[in-house]
Amino acid sequence: MHNVTLIPGDGIGPSIAEVAVRVIEASGVDVAWHRVEAGLSAIDKYKDPLPQNVIDSIKETRVALKGPLTTPVGSGFRSVNVALRKEFDLYANVRPARTYPGVSARYKDIDLVTVRENTEEFYAGIEHYIDPSRSAAETIGVVTRSGSERIVRYAYEYARKHGRKKVTTVHKANILKYTGGLFLEVARSVASEYPEITSDDKIIDNMAMQMVINPHQFDVIVTTNLFGDILSDLASGLVGGLGMAPGANIGYSAAIFEAVHGSAPDITGKNLANPSAILLAGVMMLRHLNEMEAADRIEKTVADIVAEGKYVTKDLNPAVPIGTKEMGEEIVRRLKK
Ligand code: NAD
Repeated sequence: MHNVTLIPGDGIGPSIAEVAVRVIEASGVDVAWHRVEAGLSAIDKYKDPLPQNVIDSIKETRVALKGPLTTPVGSGFRSVNVALRKEFDLYANVRPARTYPGVSARYKDIDLVTVRENTEEFYAGIEHYIDPSRSAAETIGVVTRSGSERIVRYAYEYARKHGRKKVTTVHKANILKYTGGLFLEVARSVASEYPEITSDDKIIDNMAMQMVINPHQFDVIVTTNLFGDILSDLASGLVGGLGMAPGANIGYSAAIFEAVHGSAPDITGKNLANPSAILLAGVMMLRHLNEMEAADRIEKTVADIVAEGKYVTKDLNPAVPIGTKEMGEEIVRRLKK
């Protein structure tokens, strides 16, 4: 039996998390779910978007499946997602982007993975106005040798484990000579330890263009925090948007799996949310737990249903009257067969 912390999240989170729980249970994997609340619902109840019991639960289980959490823009509380990454030092953000038949996308046969550094640089929270009249603001991006080394090594180990052929390091070392320069220097050194994997590096602006015009040349991409955030969404855009995009946040002591999309307040409570991304995050979680067979079965069932286009939510096929619940029920039914 696996102990897993479940954070249903805000907005559409609880409805898609419920589908994920039912589907994982239908795959035959035995999970004891530790349900905890974070985000807006936790503020109502505990006056804290990240209550201590959430942290305690993840410390105990070391694995969490998380629905999206709402973060106020510009002011208000800091992102709970960022706080969780910091609390558990979840240094690797792994975001696969694959084309699935049935999803309308610009390209076919894309299979990319972005490995984003998740704790340093501009997301470390070192920012302030320089004077009371707010005449200027500073955000300080710190890149360390050890932080760069562990993320680049993670990307190469991931490539090795998953039989991938190429790792591309993305940077801006021509302008950011110190932070970008350090990251690139470390990446080139780590790359030399993996001669069986093709290594190259690209400057971020060229990389963005290359991904749009010829994404098939890339396999695993490793980069710093901000570039990784942007490029992984770009990669999702190439394969048809965020509807099928899962993500994992991995550290030495814990791992948190989630959909890349947010809490979608515009469709909350309407039974419209596509549960595929959180289901694919569940698939990544099951592989992390070494439940390979169940992971493969769930992924194949989701891919089949999406390809058929009959039991899918409106974002995938506007012509069918299927909602979140009905799509989930069909996946459960097929897994139990
Ligand atoms: P969003 O991803 O919530 O929504 C963008 C658009 O995509 C909306 O039109 C939405 O309806 C649609 N969409 C998203 N998920 C969908 C799904 N599963 N099925 C069908 N349509 C879907 O992005 P946003 O509106 O910029 O952000 C809303 C809130 O979510 C913000 O508070 C933001 O901070 C938060 N957010 C959280 C996470 C996270 O918890 N990991 C990630 C991104 C955004």
